[in-house]
Amino acid sequence: MNGRLALPGFVNAHSHTFQRSLRGRTHGDDFWAWRDAMLALAAEQTPDGVRREYELTYREFLRAGYTAVGEFHYLGLAEATSAAAAAEAAGIEQVVLLAAYGRGGLPRFRQPSVAAFLGQVEELAETGARVGLAPHSVRACPEDWLQEIGAYAERERLVLHVHADEQPREIEECLAEYGVRPIELLARTGCLGPLTTVVHATHADDGELDLIADAGARVCVCPTTEASLADGFVPALRLLERRIPVCIGSDSNIRIDPLEELRELEGTARRASGRRNVFGVGDLFEFGSDEGAASLGLERWPGADVDLGHPSLRGVEAADVRAALVEGCGADVFVQ
Ligand SMILES: [Zn+2]
Repeated sequence: MNGRLALPGFVNAHSHTFQRSLRGRTHGDDFWAWRDAMLALAAEQTPDGVRREYELTYREFLRAGYTAVGEFHYLGLAEATSAAAAAEAAGIEQVVLLAAYGRGGLPRFRQPSVAAFLGQVEELAETGARVGLAPHSVRACPEDWLQEIGAYAERERLVLHVHADEQPREIEECLAEYGVRPIELLARTGCLGPLTTVVHATHADDGELDLIADAGARVCVCPTTEASLADGFVPALRLLERRIPVCIGSDSNIRIDPLEELRELEGTARRASGRRNVFGVGDLFEFGSDEGAASLGLERWPGADVDLGHPSLRGVEAADVRAALVEGCGADVFVQ
């Protein structure tokens, strides 16, 4: 085959773009040791560095078929403006998911109050950036912050992204503090609705997944990062059972390849079920594009073209190209 196949562009619904610099380093034995290295890197970030580095990484996204990104940003307002400028220069659609951080982390992550956070959201939106709300996690945002942010998201019709249930320790701490699990706390505080995307949900129990399904919320899975950080397995079959919409993210950017994220998701489902073609190719492509766009509130985003003459597609029948992309191709199959 020759020529090109036009696909909807992939949407990278969850990226912390600065973390790209950590790939290849060894960061100790577990997530929490990696997090220390990540915090040290975050401490060094400057507006100029973000402007420069994010543009380069966004160009990598575009070459890999990602034409839109949700930048989950917790480095401060000046750096958020730089991230938006980098996206514009690279030519990628972007929503800045500005993180609310009430406690923990680094001083630069934190706002003095939830009102100050919402003020930052408005300030950023006034620059022309497309914005969403990102209460970082139940670790970083106390209950009263979550309540305010949930109400604001609903009132202003803004998307809301939040990390939850990535690591067992976060669940234990939430149970100790509130007597409920993280996604239960999100539901109780008005942070779980149709505009919500729960990032990871790796260790969500059945009750939490039921809450997500009942709310009409989404889950963003980031399989290559979840593997790298020893988070656990995507609860693929339990998401499928409940028909919870799924989107994908490159998260720590250890890999930039939407096909690999989808392959990992489907591969986990196959290993867990003993069956093949669990999600179906059509659904996987929807997760990669439409669901990501919906999670970011995007109505339009550019397409991605496949090089049908690429060696990894040699001998593949036209009708099988989509399945072959997920099963057997890397992101170098895309052409701009
Ligand atoms: Zn994240």
